[in-house]
Amino acid sequence: MNNHLERMQELVKLLNQYNYEYYTLDNPSVSDSEYDRLMQELIRLETMYPDNVDKNSPTKRVGGKINESFQKITHQLPMLSLSNVFTEADILNFDQRIRKENIVNPKYVCELKIDGLSVSLKYEHGELLYAATRGDGVVGEDITDNVKTIKTIPLKLKQDIDIEVRGEIYISKKTLQKINEKRLKECLPLFKNARNLASGSIRQLDSSIAAKRNLDAFIYHLPNPLDYGIKSHFEALKFMKDLGFVTNPNNRLVDGVKGILDYILEKTKARDSLEYDIDGVVIKLDNIFDQMKLGSTVKYPKWATAYKFPPEEVITKLKDIIFTVGRTGIVTPNAILEPVNVMGSTISKATLHNEEYILEKDIRIGDHVVIIKAGDVIPRVDSVKYEMRTGEEIPFKMIENCPICGFKLVKQDSFYYCKNVTCDAKHIEGLIHFASKGAMNINGFGERIIEDMYNLGFIKTIPDFYRLDKYKNELMLLEGYGEKSVENLLLEIEESKKNSLERLLFALGIRHVGLKTATILARKFLNIDNLMKASLEELSDIPDIGDIIAKSVKDYFANLNNLALIQELKNLNVNMTYLGKVVDNEKIKNKSFVITGTLNIKRDDLKDKIITNGGKVIESVSRKTDYLILGENPGSKYEKAKNLNIPILNEKEILEMLNVEEFKN
Ligand code: NAD
Repeated sequence: MNNHLERMQELVKLLNQYNYEYYTLDNPSVSDSEYDRLMQELIRLETMYPDNVDKNSPTKRVGGKINESFQKITHQLPMLSLSNVFTEADILNFDQRIRKENIVNPKYVCELKIDGLSVSLKYEHGELLYAATRGDGVVGEDITDNVKTIKTIPLKLKQDIDIEVRGEIYISKKTLQKINEKRLKECLPLFKNARNLASGSIRQLDSSIAAKRNLDAFIYHLPNPLDYGIKSHFEALKFMKDLGFVTNPNNRLVDGVKGILDYILEKTKARDSLEYDIDGVVIKLDNIFDQMKLGSTVKYPKWATAYKFPPEEVITKLKDIIFTVGRTGIVTPNAILEPVNVMGSTISKATLHNEEYILEKDIRIGDHVVIIKAGDVIPRVDSVKYEMRTGEEIPFKMIENCPICGFKLVKQDSFYYCKNVTCDAKHIEGLIHFASKGAMNINGFGERIIEDMYNLGFIKTIPDFYRLDKYKNELMLLEGYGEKSVENLLLEIEESKKNSLERLLFALGIRHVGLKTATILARKFLNIDNLMKASLEELSDIPDIGDIIAKSVKDYFANLNNLALIQELKNLNVNMTYLGKVVDNEKIKNKSFVITGTLNIKRDDLKDKIITNGGKVIESVSRKTDYLILGENPGSKYEKAKNLNIPILNEKEILEMLNVEEFKN
């Protein structure tokens, strides 16, 4: 395969994975600047080789996926992302592209680029009707209840008006610090930055959590200005302010490139003294008719762009490279650094990602390296100061054996794994995951406690959780554990034996099997024995599973150590069956449904019922769709289904097909 093609495929895969971590999990594993660097590389390659652009390329889509637990809201106009510029030359280019459209002496509005997440707010007769996240740009998540906890977002406007506005929800630096200090005391993982905390808080099903997080918002966009007789963006900002929204006091109308550059310089200096995080400056063409002339791509408007601040760099010496082993056995090289201060915190360790990253940059022990911390807490080694080399530096060589247990490492994609299920290092992380909330949900087992129990030799393997009662007396002698707390702990462990199969599957830490995949597998196979017997084809034929997951599941159950582990858990009476409802309903089985409009029943409940009855729920209408379920105020799917003669069901009809008694009347 051509080198460029291979690299393009690799970048698509990597960036899509980072998008998932960032938008869905709110837990990025690389810094924003590393993400931006890879994205720019992909854009460059796609411009050079347009015929090789992958249809799944992240350059073609607004990042972000919907969390299925939320109701969905289709945006009346798509919520787009912004193109990025990094240098003065990029800004000049942006301005020239605008002038090429016969726009003379363009005026721009410069705004701070608030590092939070965007929200769409819809008002009817001046009252807040709903609030939605950007989601995938077309469909967002309904976060109305959470948004109502934000005091600066008005529930009622100063005018009786129908309007949609958009803005950014954020959390102040101070709140992030306070919350992280508290979490440190409680031994909970820290939020990596204010953006992740804001996003994680607003996308909570329980709005009391959002209420406690002290969220805030700036409003910066009016999608339909002409409806209100408004012809410039700056006017729109004033109009929204007059309606009662909080707009950012730093917004400024400027003339041409000089005005933009002055603004950037000024705000770069002011950045640290702001109460909230910003990651750049947004530049928007002011005149609405000029904006319309330029239009948009599928991903961003052509009349605006975001200048991203360069990440802060410091130089230090790389003293050593050590390896850590994660829960899935992934072995990561880490740089041990001469301690150095980066954006207020002392850094002595930084990630080096993987072997390829180190070899590509020729990073050697003893090198002076540039450390980058782009507004978040995961620092990385960005580059090497080759000119500072003395000749004493030691070239990197990837280890061949697990640094903890000595097992031979196996290379998969760009990463190395220790496949020894009894490897000590994997254990603590694996045990923490096993007991964690999304997995077996054994309350009272935070990271610290599990580490203690491991070091004391009480819990060395997963089955040891279920044998902990034999250490009851020893546990009660430990500091901080009274009789009551030990009893509660043991009770929680006992309770977890009754979990439905999907929790166990997720808890086992099978590669690529998250809770959603685990649920699909549990529903399909009903018990672990059936799942263990399933062939690769059977697995990969399941919608949403695919070859990679299928192979990973098959590999897991081909490993004798894993089989022994499952047998041991069975002997300890851990439940291995799916406890959710599965009904074989011939009317629904293998049929595909598309839902549009508002229904009385919650969409997710309806979806759940269709799936447990053997049907599928898909997002868009095609000839293959068996039924369209029609609610009130349907979207364009309705028209499409009618054109394709797809049978249409109303709410009552589908609930009857599903035998849902409480909805029949
Ligand atoms: P973006 O953050 O570069 O720009 C678009 C967004 O800026 C808008 O959606 C809006 O939410 C926000 N914004 C803030 N202030 C604004 C203002 N005054 N006017 C208009 N918009 C404003 O684009 P994106 O698509 O949201 O995210 C891509 C970026 O997210 C990447 O460049 C990267 O920095 C980060 N990212 C990081 C990772 C990672 O793994 N670290 C993964 C995915 C994305």
